[in-house]
Amino acid sequence: MVEAVNKAFVCGHPIAHSRSPKIHGYWLKTYGIDGSYVAIDVPPQALRGFIEDLRSGAFAGGNVTLPNKEAAFLLADRHDAAADAIGAANTLWVADGLVHASNTDSYGFAANLDENAPGWHRGRIAVVLGAGGAARAVVHALKERGFAEIRIVNRTVVRAEELADRFGARVSAHRFDACRELCADADLLVNTTSVGMSDDRGIPADPAWLPDRALVTDIVYVPLETPLLAAAGGRGLKTVDGLGMLLHQAVPGFQRWFGRRPAVTKELRDLIVRDIQQR
Ligand code: NAP
Repeated sequence: MVEAVNKAFVCGHPIAHSRSPKIHGYWLKTYGIDGSYVAIDVPPQALRGFIEDLRSGAFAGGNVTLPNKEAAFLLADRHDAAADAIGAANTLWVADGLVHASNTDSYGFAANLDENAPGWHRGRIAVVLGAGGAARAVVHALKERGFAEIRIVNRTVVRAEELADRFGARVSAHRFDACRELCADADLLVNTTSVGMSDDRGIPADPAWLPDRALVTDIVYVPLETPLLAAAGGRGLKTVDGLGMLLHQAVPGFQRWFGRRPAVTKELRDLIVRDIQQR
């Protein structure tokens, strides 16, 4: 029988689309751990009760996905520094009857670039497209890694201003019509908008505006090569896709719940790429 301490979950609403069970299931099997990781549909109105039940220790912890990340942060008993900075939780664990919250999206974003574009953090200026939940995690990572200037560009400029206020010095807010000028001396362009996702062929900014040294990354990973990444690659710029962020953000949670730090391998990536292609 599986011990309660070796059980973890991902909760969200809807939840059927989540690839987290595939990622954690792969690691449980690879490391021969007698544990489980299940997807649970938790609509927003049921989240409070779900988190209260966690305190009884039925699960070691789990992931939180849309639309519950902000509410889970508020309902948890303790937050780590990343969750506090971002104001949202994607990873929970239970210790001594208390629910602890972290946000590993920042870690996942940076670890993906560490793996696929070593030295990326030596850039000075980053342009971040979008100001939603994922942008918060990206801006936190860029601040942590020492970017001197982080320029947030968003369709709804007031959301970019809120983010700039939240993260303070070195972070500024802009409209899309300023994007060309903002890109001209940028070292890094990050897309966190949903433009280019699934069947959307849109490009949120033209890579032609960037200098030759610039790195372009898109956190959208369906499709794996978004129209932005295709255009940037066509212009000869280095690009990194968003799947590694998803894989790396899962590492700290698995380690906490199951006691082993898992590796992001080519085999795991290939498994999730096949899943993306099949859906
Ligand atoms: P969100 O909070 O809903 O934010 C969406 C962002 O996209 C907002 O800035 C929004 O601008 C912008 N946007 C949407 N449609 C647009 C359009 N037609 N033109 C210009 N801007 C548009 O979503 P999120 O949670 O931040 O997620 C954003 C994307 O990141 C999603 O595709 C998600 O799948 C992906 N993601 C990937 C990972 C990963 O691990 N790789 C992790 C998290 C999220 P407004 O403010 O003007 O509406």
